[in-house]
Amino acid sequence: MLIGHYAPAFMIKALDKKVPLWGLFIAVQVADIIWATLILLGIEKAGINTEALHSPLVLSYMPYSHGLLSAICYSLAGVGLLLLFPYFRKNKQTAWLLGLAIFSHWIIDFISHRPDLPVYGNSMKVGLGLWNYPAWSKIIEAGMYVLGAAWYAYAVKGFKRWAAWLFWIFILASTLSSTLRSETMDPGNIHSVAISALTFYFFATLVIFIVEKNEKE
Ligand SMILES: [Zn+2]
Repeated sequence: MLIGHYAPAFMIKALDKKVPLWGLFIAVQVADIIWATLILLGIEKAGINTEALHSPLVLSYMPYSHGLLSAICYSLAGVGLLLLFPYFRKNKQTAWLLGLAIFSHWIIDFISHRPDLPVYGNSMKVGLGLWNYPAWSKIIEAGMYVLGAAWYAYAVKGFKRWAAWLFWIFILASTLSSTLRSETMDPGNIHSVAISALTFYFFATLVIFIVEKNEKE
């Protein structure tokens, strides 16, 4: 899932408006930011197989970014890092919710991936495989994302007019491109997959940062 990971970000923000949504947008993709970086560095391994059913990504070795044990560790490390700052020591709940957002990535990957997520090291691979039902996978992902976005917009009572346009055009465009993307299309090499993922995460966070600064008081 790509945009589906943002559903918990919207949900946490709607429940506690003190947590910055742009920070949640980074938090929910920490696992994939680590993954893309380690792929580019050649430390984690993945390949492309366009013959594979439903998804061409063959995620053969990703113990650091997508291991259950390491996801627990870096989620807690994230909370620890935030608590070094006086702001988060005063707002501990915000730090813990950002940590929860980091960990939510693994949960959503666990539901959607085939068994390629290692529990410990590179062993005991798990994954419930929602990917094997591509239509359902896309409907559920788009549904979570759009409902989350709507819940957030409702919770913060809207935005300045131009920011509302920016927000909904971004939500619509990202939903359509993610839903209409053909899984059988050859994504090129794994490095370009990593770079386009990082580019999208940066762009999405930037849009949300701008939108969030223009919420209605
Ligand atoms: Zn992931």
